[in-house]
Amino acid sequence: MRNVVLSIDVEQDVPPSLNTWRGLEEGLPSLLDLLSKHEVPATFFVTGQAAEKFPKLIRKVSREHEVGCHGYEHERFDKMSAKEQLRRIELATKILTKVTGRRILGFRAPNFRPNIHTFAALKRVGYLYDASNACYRIGPDPTRFGLVEIRNTWPSSFLRLPPGFSTRVLRLCLATLPLTVLDYHPWELVKVTGVRFDCRFATGEVALQRLDKVLDYLLAKKVRFRLMREIASLRGVGNQPAMAKHVRQGSGA
Ligand SMILES: [Zn+2]
Repeated sequence: MRNVVLSIDVEQDVPPSLNTWRGLEEGLPSLLDLLSKHEVPATFFVTGQAAEKFPKLIRKVSREHEVGCHGYEHERFDKMSAKEQLRRIELATKILTKVTGRRILGFRAPNFRPNIHTFAALKRVGYLYDASNACYRIGPDPTRFGLVEIRNTWPSSFLRLPPGFSTRVLRLCLATLPLTVLDYHPWELVKVTGVRFDCRFATGEVALQRLDKVLDYLLAKKVRFRLMREIASLRGVGNQPAMAKHVRQGSGA
């Protein structure tokens, strides 16, 4: 059985281009309904700021899904000092822990841009895994800091392509990768204008319909939707350097 992780980055709309929160106001409730309809669990990387503004909604997310950390206000961690990164990770973690009542185990750097100081801070705060690298953008190695690495397979816009195309690519992923990690944002479910083409095409109602079709496809293929913390725990067992190396090379993960 093939494992798939659906990861959702919860932040202001299209950061840093817009300063609105329609993704949380309108997109996230529709997304939760869709996941509930398909009984698909997901891992949500939430900014501290989103949890401060929408505590009830994020608490609701944490009851059925996993909540990880996506920074405090979608800041670029690779542009900050080690000290400032630690301060912001501590701040966001404290807010998320308070809102969800759960331990936060995973982190994804905004824009998939961590640096080695990010990983040192995550380890110090007690994180288990990092999801800030992607197959299409491989940065510094979190396993050197004793963190499990889970790499993203496709950028979020992939799930807004016509399903006839995306499902063909997914079929290849399922045939070749031990784990396929998909990324998405609640703001993709509201019609977005005035931003880069890859952020705005097929957003809104059409995005919801396409995501619905992709989930139908994956469920028909009998994939197993896992939370990232489950994958990280499985890999974390005996997370010695040799294992860590294997994990980093494990394609798509
Ligand atoms: Zn983000």
